[in-house]
Amino acid sequence: MSTALLNELHAVLGDAGLLRGELAAYETDWRRRYPGRALAVARPASTEQVAAVLQRCAAHGVGVVPQGGNTGLVGGSTPDDSGRQLVLSLTRMKRVRALDAANLSLTAEAGCVLAEVQAAASASGLLFPLSLAAEGSCTLGGNLATNAGGTQVLRYGNARELCLGLEVVTASGEIWQGLSGLRKDNTGYDLRDLFIGSEGTLGVITAATMKLFPQPRERLTALAACASMEAAVALLGLARERAGDGLTGFEVMNRASLALVAQQLPQLAQPLPAAEWTVLLELSDAESAEHARGLFEGLLETALERGLVDDAVVAQNGAQAKSFWHLRESIPLAQAQAGLNIKHDISLPVSAIPGFVAEMDAALARYMHGIQVIDFGHLGDGNLHYNVQAPAGVAPADFLATHEAAINEQVYDAVQRLGGSISAEHGIGRLKREELAQRKDPTALTLMRAIKRALDPLNLLNPGRVL
Ligand code: FAD
Ligand code: ZN
Repeated sequence: MSTALLNELHAVLGDAGLLRGELAAYETDWRRRYPGRALAVARPASTEQVAAVLQRCAAHGVGVVPQGGNTGLVGGSTPDDSGRQLVLSLTRMKRVRALDAANLSLTAEAGCVLAEVQAAASASGLLFPLSLAAEGSCTLGGNLATNAGGTQVLRYGNARELCLGLEVVTASGEIWQGLSGLRKDNTGYDLRDLFIGSEGTLGVITAATMKLFPQPRERLTALAACASMEAAVALLGLARERAGDGLTGFEVMNRASLALVAQQLPQLAQPLPAAEWTVLLELSDAESAEHARGLFEGLLETALERGLVDDAVVAQNGAQAKSFWHLRESIPLAQAQAGLNIKHDISLPVSAIPGFVAEMDAALARYMHGIQVIDFGHLGDGNLHYNVQAPAGVAPADFLATHEAAINEQVYDAVQRLGGSISAEHGIGRLKREELAQRKDPTALTLMRAIKRALDPLNLLNPGRVL
């Protein structure tokens, strides 16, 4: 059966479009938690080829795992270990098809690397604001399939809010042409929003029309030291009050997360002395550099006077601002170097975060002496990466095998009690599938399963993920 399918795929895709043999790069996820074995890797170069691949796979009943940059963190983009699933890589589909400056929109193919989408907008003097640490390798299709967040959500929203239209190939290989650049379109059910965040389980995104924005005149970045999470939340309130929409980033890093960066990536400068919480603030201004600087310095002065901040440093130029962001964005890499950890990508009402952090830190310290909480993330969006690492001297793999379930239960129980979400931006994939089944509203799960059956009746698209 699979030989016949592979012959048919080869006839459609040619040598360049069908890989067999050494496939490790496509079979292993970024965290190396879900290594699998693929039947083959299909690399179509056009939407029509994607449709042909899905038609053939449907005819042979073969499961398909869509893959973009393979930077996903929940085990959604790699095949299982059966050797029977086809990886469908979109990375050859990387054209920017159109940019409409008057409409403030851009249409690009799913395999476009995020940094290249940003660069295309910037070349026209415009801004594509989606931004995350994996932007040099993650793709627009993967960003939409996971409804990625990142560091500019506070001002511009996540991938869903930036998307105007989609082109999608269905499970049976039909093409839905929904590449509209309209900001208003109330013609029935919103199919676009159904595919966004569906993690490759409902259809394959082949292209998207995204919103663009004017470039801000000035962007200023600062690091501030806070003695407590309460102070950081109060600083967020003050920054919002003073800067309004001009506040484009508000990230936090706990003491342990920057200590880990110092240990794993000692070449990175850390401009402030260690503090309980280091906040990265970014302010974008449409008026002028002087206006922005005045606002920023006034804000930090008030914060110092009110005792919200103990120390602060404003980047003096673009290179320094970049290095501040680089510090924040290096935490996942430092963690990957240090070995496996238990990741929790959670969101909570901002008002509940100080209580959550105090309660959970104390509960985990009681649970196991020396346990390390690497806590960082997008405080402005109420999104923490609350990651738990083995005590020094304990092998990470053993730690996960013995304690992951118990620690997840403690963390997710608290998140649920406080009205939060167990997945803020990374998705469900395989990592949180059981957790979702236990914790999501039962009616919501029934509706989700009905949608899955309607769009993918043979369960061929990313089987075993999400549901
Ligand atoms: P992949 O990993 O290839 O796939 C992710 C999921 O989408 C899989 O389920 C896959 O099947 C599906 N998929 C991929 N392409 C398509 C398509 N064309 N059609 C249908 N389904 C598809 N995420 C955030 O939200 N915010 C962050 O700040 C953030 N920071 C990160 C930092 C690092 C260092 C790393 C490694 C990851 C980070 N991530 C973050 C997670 C990840 O980068 C994002 O989820 C990203 O959007 C995934 O894009 P990708 O192209 O790599 O997708
Ligand atoms: Zn994040």
